[in-house]
Amino acid sequence: MATSAIIQGFRDGLAQGELLIQKCNSCNQLNMYPRYACPHCQSDDLGWQKAAGTGTLMSVTTLRAGGPEGFEHEIPYALGIVRLDEGVQLLGRLVPDADGEWSSYTCDQKVAFTPATDKVYATFERAE
Ligand SMILES: [Zn+2]
Repeated sequence: MATSAIIQGFRDGLAQGELLIQKCNSCNQLNMYPRYACPHCQSDDLGWQKAAGTGTLMSVTTLRAGGPEGFEHEIPYALGIVRLDEGVQLLGRLVPDADGEWSSYTCDQKVAFTPATDKVYATFERAE
């Protein structure tokens, strides 16, 4: 399946070790996930802003079976919903603890983006 043009900028950023947030050049609002038009003002004049990479873990779950197509071989892995300090939320992978599990992650925990240039998704680890 071809990569959608709308998320290519996001993936290009990840490939360079950067977490990018789509930003509307008309109203300066941030959008996550990327869209074809700004949901705030409907402008299609959209660019990218580099995120600080820090945020708060809002939810965490570990997948041990039934991974989505293309990711079955990566099970088990943990997914978290992260609210970035910029205010937008995204789904990301969580770096496992030293024992290979994710039991130390809890909601409301501070997390930080971890560049992983061979991945197409954002990865986070505990920040404290
Ligand atoms: Zn806008």
